[in-house]
Amino acid sequence: EAKRNGRNRFEFYDVRFDEESDEKFSLIQRLRPAVQANALAVYYQPLIDLKTGNICALEALLRWPQEDGSMIFPDRFIPLAESSGLIDTLGAWVLNQACMFCAKQQQNGNSELSIAVNLSFAQFKDGNLPQIVKGALETSQLAPEHLELELTESILADDNGNVIQQLEQIKSLGVTFAIDDFGTGYSNLNYLRTFSAQKLKIDRIFINTLGFDEKDVPLVTAIISIAESLGMATVAEGIENEAALKKITEMGCDIGQGYYWSKPVPAEQIERLIEAQSPTNQR
Ligand code: C2E
Ligand code: MG
Ligand code: MG
Ligand code: MG
Repeated sequence: EAKRNGRNRFEFYDVRFDEESDEKFSLIQRLRPAVQANALAVYYQPLIDLKTGNICALEALLRWPQEDGSMIFPDRFIPLAESSGLIDTLGAWVLNQACMFCAKQQQNGNSELSIAVNLSFAQFKDGNLPQIVKGALETSQLAPEHLELELTESILADDNGNVIQQLEQIKSLGVTFAIDDFGTGYSNLNYLRTFSAQKLKIDRIFINTLGFDEKDVPLVTAIISIAESLGMATVAEGIENEAALKKITEMGCDIGQGYYWSKPVPAEQIERLIEAQSPTNQR
């Protein structure tokens, strides 16, 4: 629960503290050189425009491939990167990779494609995030409106730092924003007033049940209605089957993301997916 509820909070450890922190320590010791050697990988998952059925954006998701062929997932190493300060280097790297990848896809004829990149609370600490975002846009030559930064509720809930100030600075570059995992964090509607984002991503725990259980329907309907009235587009995360897709489309959601279309995959693989739907291949 502590983990889910935002990483910028204190966590309480139980008796397993020492054992756990030993393991974390050794993982950080391995993560540092991996980050420095650019040995992590950026995977991409498509976001689908539910009106057209086309890929409208990609979300960049980090992976840490191991020498034995296994994979470490971000839920395990992102918190370590955050607490060790490695997230600054790592976050800037992902941003650069993702912007360059999107620009390349645009040059290949997919001019409307956008790229979504996740941000951590810890990346706002130094105050240089606007500069890092600007740099990534300049290097890649990606138009700012095609970069979408994903923020969790916990980032927006911070009011003692200069988070909102930095966000406004980034927004003035023309970059767009999405609120990620909506409904699982502080769920304080105040931040929707404090900072206006273009998209609201409904967490997959509310989407999971759609299509075969009515219990989450009223909640999802309400979330879509809030988003609409604030002029935000809605994204349903975690669409895994036809039934959920049908239901969420009926409910008026704009965009879908989930295993139903594709898991996050390496760059070459997503390129083939994009290629398969590009206009020249659709006759
Ligand atoms: P997120 O931003 O909410 O990303 C969506 C997660 O849901 C991804 O997990 C994705 O693989 C998973 N997902 C997508 N569709 C489905 C589905 O149909 N079913 C199920 N069961 N899962 C689905 P992943 O890649 O393990 O990433 C976990 C979290 O790690 C992300 O959640 C994000 O908060 C964080 N993360 C990943 N990459 C980065 C990064 O570059 N920077 C930062 N700060 N955080 C990152
Ligand atoms: Mg996300
Ligand atoms: Mg999410
Ligand atoms: Mg999530």
